[in-house]
Amino acid sequence: MTIQNNISLRPFNTFGLEARASHFASFDSVAALRQCLRTGIKPVLLLGGGSNMLLTQDQQALVLKNDIKGIRIVRTFDHKVWIEVGGGENWHQFVLWAVQQGFGGVENMSLIPGTVGAAPIQNIGAYGVELKDVMLRLTAVSLETGKTKSFSRKTCRFGYRDSLFKQTEKGKWCITSVVFSLTKTRHKLNTSYGDIQKTLEANGVTQPTIADISKAVIQIRSSKLPDPANLGNCGSFFKNPETTTAILQKIQQTHPQAPFYPLTDGRVKIPAGWLIEQCGWKGKRVGNTGCYEKQALVLVNYGGATGQEVKQLAYAIIDSVKEKFGIALEPEVNLL
Ligand SMILES: Cc1cc2nc3c(=O)[nH]c(=O)nc-3n(C[C@H](O)[C@H](O)[C@H](O)COP(=O)(O)OP(=O)(O)OC[C@H]3O[C@@H](n4cnc5c(N)ncnc54)[C@H](O)[C@@H]3O)c2cc1C
Repeated sequence: MTIQNNISLRPFNTFGLEARASHFASFDSVAALRQCLRTGIKPVLLLGGGSNMLLTQDQQALVLKNDIKGIRIVRTFDHKVWIEVGGGENWHQFVLWAVQQGFGGVENMSLIPGTVGAAPIQNIGAYGVELKDVMLRLTAVSLETGKTKSFSRKTCRFGYRDSLFKQTEKGKWCITSVVFSLTKTRHKLNTSYGDIQKTLEANGVTQPTIADISKAVIQIRSSKLPDPANLGNCGSFFKNPETTTAILQKIQQTHPQAPFYPLTDGRVKIPAGWLIEQCGWKGKRVGNTGCYEKQALVLVNYGGATGQEVKQLAYAIIDSVKEKFGIALEPEVNLL
């Protein structure tokens, strides 16, 4: 374990933003993580793939990159399997592995960037499936004491892009492994969301397998979202706001076509991308940053943007959506 000083974090965040870490180390085991923690350098900032963070300044912190690897079947049943995955494994590589093995449950979440260890933090989700639907438990190490603790799905208090680790336990744990329960047979295929059905049809698939769905999701995502390797971004910058039907009805008076999804509690979810687009931001460039031309929800770095520039754009968007629709957008991305 080596602690490096004054390291550029540009290669470690998908926005491609420059920010320096006063201290930096990577760890590939719980023992190595504990060694890093024993240096006593604080605060500690966990880093996975850097695909959900906006670095707005240099980090006077011990930035720890999770490189704990390993995919292990821990239990098999007739129709399902439990798999433990190291927190530093790449999420999409794990999905591809599961699909190749014929294990179902994560195929709709193909091509989400980042690590397995960060996935529970915001309960990642896509195309009608969320991490909480397939996660059994996780193991985390306390950044304060170095002790290990197991968290069940229930104790993680998952919500829409939310968990215990974004609330009361924020910044207190390092998730070192996650156990998933995937199906071996009787897969619960979900093709109802977005363009999945349309893409399957275009691919000539009538009886989809989990591999067909994974392939379709990869095709859809590749056509809609910018690849961070070419255009720096963190995916959806804002959460889709959940609001009352009264506010929706008010919006519908001027925008009868306003899209919305009913929630089980009687409220509604309105796509943030639509709200932002109505305020004229889609495809708009401000300095070195801007709103992606194909999806207003994605803020991009055209090259040389600073974290502050992106943050200012985000706040300008929040202000204009608030002014036009009375809805307060919340960032999904972690501002650091
Ligand atoms: C093109 C693109 C598309 C995306 N699409 C989606 C999508 O469809 N659905 C979705 O939900 N998200 C999406 N995202 C967001 C992102 O992929 C996820 O949030 C992902 O889980 C972040 O993983 P990461 O390893 O990059 O986390 P990082 O960005 O490195 O970290 C995110 C947060 O988690 C903390 N953290 C990281 N690792 C750990 C750990 N092991 N233990 C404790 N805390 C940790 C960090 O300190 C930080 O606060 C997208 C991003 C991009 C760039």
